[in-house]
Amino acid sequence: MRLLLVEDDAMIGEAIRTGLKREGFAVDWVRDGEAAETALRSEPFDVLLLDLGLPRKSGLAVLTGLRARGDALPVIILTARDAVSDRVQGLDAGADDYLVKPFDLDELAARIRALLRRKSGRTAPAIEHLGVILDPAAHTVRREGHAVPLSPKEFALLQLLMERPGTILSRARIEERLYGWGQEVESNAIEVHIHGLRRKLGAEYILNVRGVGYRVRPA
Ligand code: CA
Repeated sequence: MRLLLVEDDAMIGEAIRTGLKREGFAVDWVRDGEAAETALRSEPFDVLLLDLGLPRKSGLAVLTGLRARGDALPVIILTARDAVSDRVQGLDAGADDYLVKPFDLDELAARIRALLRRKSGRTAPAIEHLGVILDPAAHTVRREGHAVPLSPKEFALLQLLMERPGTILSRARIEERLYGWGQEVESNAIEVHIHGLRRKLGAEYILNVRGVGYRVRPA
């Protein structure tokens, strides 16, 4: 899952990015409102983490613009301001959730998972498909009752495929979702991760639709 973090405070931004990467998210970080707009118009993200007090363009203006374009991207406001009116304004402008700094990274990660769950229409925290159960919070995958150890990228890729079992995802689309800017991606990286998943979950679990992309076997 790919996140855009908009935060002008270097220490806070670095802490959030490091913590969320450790949770398995791909995190792109920009430090002002205009850079955020550029990123939002050019790249696909799963969640936006948005500070309100930003140089060049306020977080509130970024959020208002996003919703005015009809973009339903889930947004969590991160703000040091504890004034109730700021939070109300943010929520009314289209934010889905907020956290007041300083906050716990575990709580931020849990709120991101909750938003992703709601976005995909799931009610249960774990994703289940054809005998495989993936738990985004615990970072575990079980197949017919047995734990399946996966690398962080294999885990992220499997989650992407299991979120929408009917959808075929192209290699380019998968790369966009698994890797942030400036991350070196080997040309065969996705194939290698798919191969790893097939070895661990069974060759039939993930289908290669020739010339189009990949998907999990339909139920
Ligand atoms: Ca700020």
